[in-house]
Amino acid sequence: MPASQPNTLSKRASKAGEYDVVIVGAGFAGMYMLHRLRGLGLSARVFEQGSDVGGTWYWNRYPGARCDVESMQYSYSFSDELQQEWEWSERYAPQPEILRYANHVADRFDLRSDIQFDTRVERAVFDERARDWSVTTSDGKTVRAQFVVLATGCLSNARMPDFKGLADFTGEVYHTGHWPHEPVDFTGKRVAVIGTGSSGIQSIPIIAEQASQLTVFQRTANFSVPARNAPLSAEERDFFRANYDEIRRMAREEMRNGIYQELPEKGALEETPEQRQARYGARWEKGGLTFTATYNNIALDKAANDTAADFVRDRIAEIVDDPEVAKLLQPNDHPIGSKRICVDTDYYATYNRPNVTLVDVKADPIEEILPNGLKAGGKVHAFDALVLATGFDAMTGSVAKIDIRGRGGRTLNEKWAAGPRTYLGLMSEGFPNLFIITGPGSPSVLSNMIVSIEQHVDWIADCLDYMRASGLDCMEASRAAEDSWVDHVNEVARDTLFPQANSWYMGANIPGKPRIFMPYIGGVGVYRQICNDVAAKGYEGFAMSEAAPVQRAAASS
Ligand code: FAD
Ligand code: NAP
Repeated sequence: MPASQPNTLSKRASKAGEYDVVIVGAGFAGMYMLHRLRGLGLSARVFEQGSDVGGTWYWNRYPGARCDVESMQYSYSFSDELQQEWEWSERYAPQPEILRYANHVADRFDLRSDIQFDTRVERAVFDERARDWSVTTSDGKTVRAQFVVLATGCLSNARMPDFKGLADFTGEVYHTGHWPHEPVDFTGKRVAVIGTGSSGIQSIPIIAEQASQLTVFQRTANFSVPARNAPLSAEERDFFRANYDEIRRMAREEMRNGIYQELPEKGALEETPEQRQARYGARWEKGGLTFTATYNNIALDKAANDTAADFVRDRIAEIVDDPEVAKLLQPNDHPIGSKRICVDTDYYATYNRPNVTLVDVKADPIEEILPNGLKAGGKVHAFDALVLATGFDAMTGSVAKIDIRGRGGRTLNEKWAAGPRTYLGLMSEGFPNLFIITGPGSPSVLSNMIVSIEQHVDWIADCLDYMRASGLDCMEASRAAEDSWVDHVNEVARDTLFPQANSWYMGANIPGKPRIFMPYIGGVGVYRQICNDVAAKGYEGFAMSEAAPVQRAAASS
């Protein structure tokens, strides 16, 4: 920054309870945001409701939890030393290892001293006169900050279903997204799992090995592909380490979902059934999320999509011995990939075990939880422990739990009552100086999240640096820019098969939540370019201003 420029942002560095930036959440987003802000010489305070860092990987400790983007890519890229030195053990690292990695990052970059754990942010109110935020936390304290960054996570608000009688169940109840820190041993127990999304599909095979009896309650069958997880060889690690610059660049700029992979050149219907079978077969054997990238039109063309869906349905019929069970496990109500595809280890084969039963609760909905089981379709199922793999109030759930008040005292929940509205997923009009990391309207959950997190953090940090250098202290998305971005996000989604599914991307898993396709599906490369162009044009679509002298004086008195 030129010495002559007013340093408006760091004026709060020296005052107790005043910060340039408050960051909410200490997952991968909050941690990296703190690191970048420190590098700019800004004062920042992170509040985290959990007792340690890691976010998703702190909370989701259920058996079988691991990433579904390969670890050599599901990792920070901002420090070459870090990516060269960290030794991932498996293709998809298990949760304890990812949590160790988060802790390593916190220690290596000395982050903990600016993070206050066991503290929820309850309220954030914008002061239009002082042009800053007052942030109230669960310890009853209020701090002031010129900027607030919501690093609250897209899948951080575990959803407890409102089953009648749940509170009266006398056995153990667990939610996959809120798993205890102490080991849970199901040995010899009759266990029930409700939910067959990614969390259920990862945990069911492991629980089945321990439990005397496992009953899985499935409402909607999901598509799952084998992970083919395995220890990483030294050669595999070395390949990434030697080529990280190019691999990361391609993931950021050329891939739609931030995952470096082999890109398809053809549409599914351009090949013969035999050729398709061979290609799908090869991807199936390779394992992992890239199955739906076998062809370039699976997300766009229903007939093309059907060929991939049929392939998976056929594999399910092959793996599962009982044809009735196989039929129940075959998804038939949504295009493959329009709900997050699951990546599993032995999921379908688990239903061949004699101690595992699948119950269809679409045909026979759960009526109530009983003290020792549940009743569905008039039938009682008895068990000792209940695992709720029922998912999250995704993308907006954790933000909605904070009482956020912007201009004129309007709450963000009021503004988003008909669905979230943002400009670039980064800011919402009427809420100045409030950033959201991987918010609705950005590629976010459709991508390798660490790629999207780093992009947002870097953009926000660069923006604050620009404001400081330009003597600006207030920034807000304009209504027009936001409206046209929301239109664009909807329009791009409409051209795909995604809105056809009742997915959490659409808010469809939460009763009463508006049905809006929340993430931006234009691809991370395209999106990054749009964000960069906006910045290059002096943050086009954002109103930026300098505090008037009288306001500045009032603010600092
Ligand atoms: P989070 O990790 O969710 O962290 C947000 C933090 O904010 C949490 O610790 C929360 O406690 C805190 N917080 C929220 N509200 C408040 C408040 N009011 N006050 C204080 N603290 C608050 N993505 C991938 O790309 N690849 C994967 O393989 C992958 N696997 C996943 C597996 C599971 C089981 C789940 C649930 C998600 C997975 N995801 C994956 C998505 C994952 O959420 C992101 O990859 C990433 O970890 C998100 O980081 P974050 O910092 O944005 O949010
Ligand atoms: P989810 O995909 O939303 O799945 C929730 C499951 O619970 C669904 O099967 C749902 O059925 C069922 N359910 C919810 N309420 C129910 C009710 N009242 N009665 C019966 N069934 C009910 O949640 P998730 O599995 O936790 O996954 C969420 C996301 O987190 C994933 O999509 C993924 O992005 C991420 N994740 C990733 C991994 C990984 O592999 N790395 C692992 C876990 C999670 P319906 O479909 O019928 O609603």
